[in-house]
Amino acid sequence: MELELSTDERLFKQSVHEFLSKELAPIWSDMDSKRSIPTELIHKMGEQGLFAIPVPEEYGGQGGSFFMAALAVEEVAYNDPAVATAVFTLLNNAWPYILYLYGSEEVKQEILPKVGRGRAFFGIASTEPSGGSDVAGERTYAVAEGGVYKVTGEKVYISGVREAMEQLELGSWYLIARTAPPETGHKGLTGFAFVGNRNGKRPTGFEYSILNTIGRHAISTGILRFKETPIEEKYVVGQVGRGFYVAMEGFSLARVLVSAANVGAAQWALETAVKYSRDRRLFGDRPIASFQGVSFPIAEVAARLEAARLLVYKAAQVADRIYIKKEPGLRPHDLDYWAAAAKMVAVETALTAAEVLMKTYGALSYTEEANVFRNLLGVLSYYVGAEGTQNIMRYIVARELIGRNYVKG
Ligand SMILES: Cc1cc2nc3c(=O)[nH]c(=O)nc-3n(C[C@H](O)[C@H](O)[C@H](O)COP(=O)(O)OP(=O)(O)OC[C@H]3O[C@@H](n4cnc5c(N)ncnc54)[C@H](O)[C@@H]3O)c2cc1C
Repeated sequence: MELELSTDERLFKQSVHEFLSKELAPIWSDMDSKRSIPTELIHKMGEQGLFAIPVPEEYGGQGGSFFMAALAVEEVAYNDPAVATAVFTLLNNAWPYILYLYGSEEVKQEILPKVGRGRAFFGIASTEPSGGSDVAGERTYAVAEGGVYKVTGEKVYISGVREAMEQLELGSWYLIARTAPPETGHKGLTGFAFVGNRNGKRPTGFEYSILNTIGRHAISTGILRFKETPIEEKYVVGQVGRGFYVAMEGFSLARVLVSAANVGAAQWALETAVKYSRDRRLFGDRPIASFQGVSFPIAEVAARLEAARLLVYKAAQVADRIYIKKEPGLRPHDLDYWAAAAKMVAVETALTAAEVLMKTYGALSYTEEANVFRNLLGVLSYYVGAEGTQNIMRYIVARELIGRNYVKG
């Protein structure tokens, strides 16, 4: 395994960094306080090639890799440490790839090129009011009626609802719904590419609303409600009854990129803490960095972050070996351990980095003007939920390490 970036990877990361330091870094805190990502920024990010990176060019993707997507997401989070645009970016890299793998040709051609250009959104609609961790227990159901499925149910805490429904030409999600009775468990679930917005038009029986969240405000989190909402058969993603397995592949790919976002956000927190520890002077003009109570926690964050980044890059390389290089003998399931381990470590590193930054700033951190609370509340979203909770990451790592027969969900 290479521990350094190749020349191409370094140049790619640098070009993304240069673009974002002009277009995103100057406005991230303003976006967070105004609770919106400008549509023009989404378009520009698309034109810069930041979405659908691993999707082949013939489907309007960038023909890149998950490693490149991880580098891009890391840079996006570094330049928007409230992580709103990182969420938008990671969703529109991982889930479009799932559509590319398992969607029908017609639907792929309808959605993917628009995602690649920043004109469409393709996220994930899994969580229900009855509990997000228990995907196999989901209740939203779809009934087949002459080539059309009628979907009824509710999805909550769904990222990107306003952006998908109000800002872009097309808004869509990988939607998980039950197509067989509840007793079939995970084998009764089917995945759909649900288009909620097509040039401002909504399907019948579909409504949405936006939740009042406490952080990463620039991207919305909302609720999708379905009442006999029609979805044509061609929008089934993968086989009927295989939706759970397809979702698990998508979650692992998304977790790799979530981890990259947390590495980028932690890097910003670390650098911001270092700068303040040098600049803030007390006790006879001494920089606070001269006190070990300030410098040691920063040193610990730096060391943990180096380790987290290597783990995230390793997970992205495993994703590429499975999906891009298609190495014989590797299966999608082989990513689960690495993706869960990476998310576990990266999210906790980012949260510690945010906490250390708050403490380094002292009372200043508690003001809106300092903006550092936006970083804390942004990364907190990945601690409490989003692509699986930290406990679920521990469960997956334990299951893969010790064995399914020993570790039960
Ligand atoms: C900002 C934000 C954005 C989100 N975006 C999306 C999105 O775009 N699409 C989407 O589908 N979902 C999204 N989610 C939902 C997210 O994925 C869920 O929060 C997550 O799956 C957990 O579900 P839950 O919140 O219902 O918690 P629950 O499943 O009710 O769990 C509650 C607590 O119990 C613990 N727990 C549950 N089961 C176990 C177990 N077997 N072992 C140990 N501990 C367990 C959990 O770790 C958690 O601490 C988002 C969430 C947030 C906060």
